[in-house]
Amino acid sequence: MPYTVAIFDLDNCLIDALSVGSLFEPAFEAVRRANQGALTPAVLEEALNQCWYTAFDLVADRYGFTPAMRSAGWEEFRQMEVRTPPQAYPDLGLVPSIPLRRYLVTSGFRRLQNSKIDALGIRSWFEDVIIDALDDKDDENAPPHGKRPVFERILAREGCTPQQVLVIGDNPLSELGAGRALGAVTVQTVRPGIRPWELADYRVESLEEVLQILAADQAPAGAATGLASVSDGCA
Ligand SMILES: [Mg+2]
Repeated sequence: MPYTVAIFDLDNCLIDALSVGSLFEPAFEAVRRANQGALTPAVLEEALNQCWYTAFDLVADRYGFTPAMRSAGWEEFRQMEVRTPPQAYPDLGLVPSIPLRRYLVTSGFRRLQNSKIDALGIRSWFEDVIIDALDDKDDENAPPHGKRPVFERILAREGCTPQQVLVIGDNPLSELGAGRALGAVTVQTVRPGIRPWELADYRVESLEEVLQILAADQAPAGAATGLASVSDGCA
């Protein structure tokens, strides 16, 4: 069954999240000030380093931030935005040539994630750009938080099976885990500094390889049956 939908992650998938450099420093400093000995300095720095790879609330949960540490970081992060485009990986320009219905789903603080997307000028490449915003949590009208419910809404909108969806990203704790739990096909972008995840269906270093996966997906069905490889499920 041919793939029809690709759901992309942003940070460490299409762009190098570390490239925003010192932008996070005010938030890190606020968390350090609020720490008050709750975590040892070494563990605290390890936790802050994780913020480059994983959403702040997940880091705060995992490392047991106190409410004061959490809210100190939160207040800084929710106001943050980039002023210059973040560093994209060299293959970013291949995204529009991936012949599927494309979505961008990114977790983080709404203002920051939107500012990155706008600075890159990539919004129009996607059917929809969905921010799974940490700072919507307090809004009781906001949809459920997390990538899995976002993916479920995309599947419902597209009317396709999970097996027709490629979930492309770096993080097993986020999109890759959610995609796998739904039965979608997971493609891990093993960018520099990203640890390979053996449960991903595919591991790629470049989006070039995603195009190869799609070419292989289309070829055998048509060759074996003589039928055109047409979409059979998605709107
Ligand atoms: Mg990511």
